[in-house]
Amino acid sequence: SARSRTLIRHKRYADFLRNRLDHSLEMAVTDPLTGVNNRRFMTGQLEPLVDHAARGGAAAAVLILDIDHFKMINDTFGHDAGDEVLVEFAVRLATNVRAVDLPCRFGGEEFVVVMPETDVEKARAIADRIRAQVAGTPFMVMEGRESLNVTISIGVAVTTGQGDTAESLLKRADEALYEAKQAGRNRVISAAA
Ligand code: GH3
Ligand code: MG
Ligand code: MG
Repeated sequence: SARSRTLIRHKRYADFLRNRLDHSLEMAVTDPLTGVNNRRFMTGQLEPLVDHAARGGAAAAVLILDIDHFKMINDTFGHDAGDEVLVEFAVRLATNVRAVDLPCRFGGEEFVVVMPETDVEKARAIADRIRAQVAGTPFMVMEGRESLNVTISIGVAVTTGQGDTAESLLKRADEALYEAKQAGRNRVISAAA
């Protein structure tokens, strides 16, 4: 009986170590606030897709989505309410893209969606659907005490067929996002090829 107690103890300890490893692997790829993938994981997924497109494979698209005037939400309702908006936004994002698409938190109030085998028309259509979903349904925060009208701006970029890198694709999407902000926010702009 002493021997089986020892075996059980060892088994428990092995399970504990495995759980801890699973947890730390998850932490390495997941944004802790929103539960969507983090920037590092997204970059690792995007690079081979862009390389594939550059060698004549299917086009890949990226969206960069940025919450409009997010600082004002924090300043008016507090940082915790801001966090609630980020979590709710991540849920809407994850439920409004296709199963093959990869939503992630890029940093702060910016998110990226990586879209394999997607041309610019399709990417724009999905981006506009997300934009409309966010603008059309208020965000309930602070246990339902506040209902916030949130809008987002989105920059779209699609691989051009040669010379693209993950970095250059994200840069073009970011430039398109900047244009969307300049043009008045709550809109989708796609980068020229
Ligand atoms: P714009 O429409 O031009 O995007 O304006 P903005 O206010 O959204 O952009 P700005 O970059 O000025 O502010 C972003 C704010 O996001 C500032 C920062 O404090 C806040 N922020 C970044 N990360 C978090 C977070 O994890 N939680 C909360 N609550 N706020 C965050
Ligand atoms: Mg921003
Ligand atoms: Mg913003």
